[in-house]
Amino acid sequence: MQFIDLRAQYDLIADKVDARVASVLRAGSYIMGPEVKALEGGLAEFGQAGHALSCANGTDALALPLMAWGLKPTDAVFCPSFTFAATAEVVPWLGAKPVFVDIDPKTYNMDPAHLEASIEMVKARGELNPSVVIAVDLFGQPANYPAIAEIARKHGLKLIADSAQGFGCTINGKHPVHWSDITTTSFFPAKPLGCYGDGGAVLTNDAGLAEHIESLRVHGKATASDIAGRDFTHDPKYWNVRIGMNSRLDTIQAAVLLEKLDIFAGEIEARNRVAARYNEHLEGVVDSVPFVIEGGVSTWAQYTIEHSRRDALAAHLKSRGVPTAVYYPIPIHKQDIYSRYPLGPNGLPVTEEKAERVISLPMHPYLDDVTQDRVIAAIREFNGKVG
Ligand SMILES: *Cc1c(COP(=O)(O)O)cnc(C)c1O
Repeated sequence: MQFIDLRAQYDLIADKVDARVASVLRAGSYIMGPEVKALEGGLAEFGQAGHALSCANGTDALALPLMAWGLKPTDAVFCPSFTFAATAEVVPWLGAKPVFVDIDPKTYNMDPAHLEASIEMVKARGELNPSVVIAVDLFGQPANYPAIAEIARKHGLKLIADSAQGFGCTINGKHPVHWSDITTTSFFPAKPLGCYGDGGAVLTNDAGLAEHIESLRVHGKATASDIAGRDFTHDPKYWNVRIGMNSRLDTIQAAVLLEKLDIFAGEIEARNRVAARYNEHLEGVVDSVPFVIEGGVSTWAQYTIEHSRRDALAAHLKSRGVPTAVYYPIPIHKQDIYSRYPLGPNGLPVTEEKAERVISLPMHPYLDDVTQDRVIAAIREFNGKVG
């Protein structure tokens, strides 16, 4: 049994993917080929954004807007600790300070009340300047954007939606970019929309920010606005007007993603059917099944339950051939290297409790009923054994 069955998906679209990749190989535009532009158009449309730009990975996608906003060492960036390290990592990368915020006990996403208390704490201390919020769509479900965006706006902070796990998630039909200054995502193979290597993207309705990031991802090259009205005849790639980086999506990966984007809406529906079936059979059997925010649609990057005997359950399932994973066993603020950064008021008790209790079950769009029943039966068997 596979935890995430990427092969089942490939088998379904192999002919189309192979043909697209072969056509890139023959055409020879390996960097920034036409597939990259086509993909960006498709991503913008799918994610309801004015602009989408691809980049090298989901970590760079987070760093690029922070670079564009010119983060300073005295800037505080508020983010959850119950997330993948990349969410927080980009902040010290740019010299600023992450401030860790606790999560809602039901959704595992940023707790808006604790966010506001954390911003007020930092303001009262007066050492750091609250500047950015990074909310995470953990396990594929949208963060509480209506509440978080209101707090960010009220305090004058920018809002990034780290949708590496949640690209495609919505609240009342609206994608995160409806509330955020920018949404970032990752195309790491195991993410709901993954390629066959590393990749990432940003989506925004802010044309100026998009142009800035377009420059940053190619070594700070001159943009159309930089060139406008000037007598400039060189390749703008070699007029470097800001300190940027090299963060592009390979044309081959864009070709793969064009085919995957085509079936993505159907896959999100399939993931929701799998999740609903798990819910139906595991409610009351485990300590908690996932809770999705009102009006929300999750992309189910993970199907995560809670169990008081999490580690014993994992061992039992393994013995029955059922793979599981723990996201995340060590919250970021508990990692040595991140323990120097501030926590919101009264620490992160919910984050710390959940890190001990959560366990993720096999989840992908091609999980059939028979296989899923084996997972469910093995959990019931464990409960019977331990009473
Ligand atoms: C995977 C992930 C990232 C980073 O994406 P990469 O493409 O691996 O760099 C960032 N944030 C979250 C929440 C993630 O799950």
